Amino acid sequence: MNNDNKPSLNELLFNHHKNTVLIPTFVIAAILFTIYFFTNAYVYNLIKNVSIEEVKGHGNDILLAESKYIGNTLGEISRLSKILQKEHEHFFLNPQLNYLPFGVPVFKTAPNGVYYKSNKIGSSLYYSSDTKITQVERDKALRSEIMDMSLKNIVDSNPNIVAAYFNSLDNMNRLYPYIDEVHNQYGPTLKMSEYNFYYLADEKHNPKREPVWTGAYLDPAGNGWMISCVVPIYNKGFLEGVTGLDITLKSFVNNLLEQKLTWDASILMLDEDGMILAMPKKIEKILNMNELTDHTYTTNIKTTINKPCEYNLLKNQNMPFGNEFVEYYQNKTDFFELTVDSKEYILLQTTVQQTGWRLILMIEKNNIFHFIYKLKLYADIIGYSAIIIAIIFYLGFLFYTVKRSKVFALEITNPIEELSKQTTFIGSDKINLSLKESNIKEINQLNSNFTKMVKELKIGKINLIQTKRRKEAFEEKANEYHKKSLIDPLSGLYNRSKADEVMNKEIEAAFLYGKPLTLIMLDVDHFKNINDTLGHLAGDLVIKEFAKIINYNSRSSDVVIRNGGDEFLIICTNTELQSAEMFAENLRVLIENGSYPQDYKVTSSIGLASYQRGYTKEDIIDRADKALYIAKESGRNRVVCL
Ligand code: GH3
Ligand code: MG
Repeated sequence: MNNDNKPSLNELLFNHHKNTVLIPTFVIAAILFTIYFFTNAYVYNLIKNVSIEEVKGHGNDILLAESKYIGNTLGEISRLSKILQKEHEHFFLNPQLNYLPFGVPVFKTAPNGVYYKSNKIGSSLYYSSDTKITQVERDKALRSEIMDMSLKNIVDSNPNIVAAYFNSLDNMNRLYPYIDEVHNQYGPTLKMSEYNFYYLADEKHNPKREPVWTGAYLDPAGNGWMISCVVPIYNKGFLEGVTGLDITLKSFVNNLLEQKLTWDASILMLDEDGMILAMPKKIEKILNMNELTDHTYTTNIKTTINKPCEYNLLKNQNMPFGNEFVEYYQNKTDFFELTVDSKEYILLQTTVQQTGWRLILMIEKNNIFHFIYKLKLYADIIGYSAIIIAIIFYLGFLFYTVKRSKVFALEITNPIEELSKQTTFIGSDKINLSLKESNIKEINQLNSNFTKMVKELKIGKINLIQTKRRKEAFEEKANEYHKKSLIDPLSGLYNRSKADEVMNKEIEAAFLYGKPLTLIMLDVDHFKNINDTLGHLAGDLVIKEFAKIINYNSRSSDVVIRNGGDEFLIICTNTELQSAEMFAENLRVLIENGSYPQDYKVTSSIGLASYQRGYTKEDIIDRADKALYIAKESGRNRVVCL
């Protein structure tokens, strides 16, 4: 049997464990892990999407609230400007009014030619040096003192308003709160119509005569970057001047934007053209620029100075928001995402109805998702840890299975090997039947069967040996008996049975191979007389002597037989009749000359017959008998051939 390609029991057991336990559980574990990670990813995305929806909803709420608040604030300021408009129009309609709410003003002409109020009561007053100061102007300066009451009240009543003023067509400026050294602050001349806070309210820019909001500009009065709400003051169709309320961007940022919002969100405010109006510190960092809230005045402001172009997010080419933002801004996309410096942001925008300003809520994604990121991280850590544990477990399990398979295989193979070794000793004394007890029932049964079988074999072998011995003894005896049955006890020659056996065999040989065969038949002459004369015992002795003579003188190939009584046969194999006759004659002489008891004279008659083709045993015996008969009849002691 070829065992080379066949697995060992150890390998079989290991493969069995591998295929029935290791691989199926490993596959199940792999499926479970896959489900786990897929579920995590699914839940993660689901929570993320839900969170984004929540951000959208809540962010819009914040923006709506903010825009509403800004709208209300601006609306309130617009309404206040309207009150001032009514009052100031009323002033021009009623030139006779003369009331000094804060006492008597002192007007002076400064060295630079500016006509101004030198005592610090109510508002400051400035008349550009290029306006010729006549009684009319002096009168207007004094009478307009009446405006200071409402200018002051409005500034005091609203924290967002930092200044209230009236600018006249003839370049007079009345501004609350009072500006010290206003002639130096503004410089010698001030052409009102060149400033946005003036011309935006004129007939051309504002035919409806409603309150108008300026863009961000640098305040000539030294309050820094600001926006103004301006209304025209008409006197029966003639534009006398413009009344305005100033809001510094700084105050807007402080009041509106520096709020603590959910997700640490920030709000950026831009005007319709994309100019930054208010920018909290966080966004300053993102955009890497500082908001212009203050300004260091080195010279006097001669005309409107708008905020620099770089503060316009639509025009600034180096803006980190990129062109994507410009597109979203122009399309008024209410929700979009941007990546700045590899940080991801969600942005929502809304428009302030009154001004067209844009409020942009900016939230760093990480602030929204950090707990989800954390959750995912923990879930991933748990998952990967479980994978590592599972791998360690499987390696351990594999190691254990390999070891266990070996141990288990040895538990089976050791007793079998021992048993197989003992089988080679079956039948010898080396066999050891005290086999080790096994933990396996079947092996114990096998051992017990083997022991039983060996014991039975032993008994069988003993029985077999005894039977063989008995058989041999029996055969020996039978042989002996057989031999005995063929031998005549008196003469020691073969008896008639042997004669039959030999004759049959020799006739067959003569027939088949043409071998010559001659039968000599001898009979003691008058033997009865011997018995009668000498006694029976002497008769026996004569027979013995007669037998001796013919036996000793025969060839080894001749078979000498006592045919019964005093008659003998000599089967001469391979002998022609002629040579047998000579031999018979020789015997006759020897018998005649033999010595017998009491010197008794013994002779014999001899008949011969040879085999002829077709003769049976009986034929040849019959013919020899006839020859003998003739010998007897013709006088005895002679040889007759037939
Ligand atoms: P013949 O010459 O015609 O042969 O005469 P015979 O006397 O020999 O005649 P027969 O053959 O009839 O006699 C044989 C006798 O031999 C008869 C028998 O009593 C005797 N005899 C036969 N067997 C034995 C034997 O074993 N011992 C003795 N002592 N006598 C025997
Ligand atoms: Mg006789």
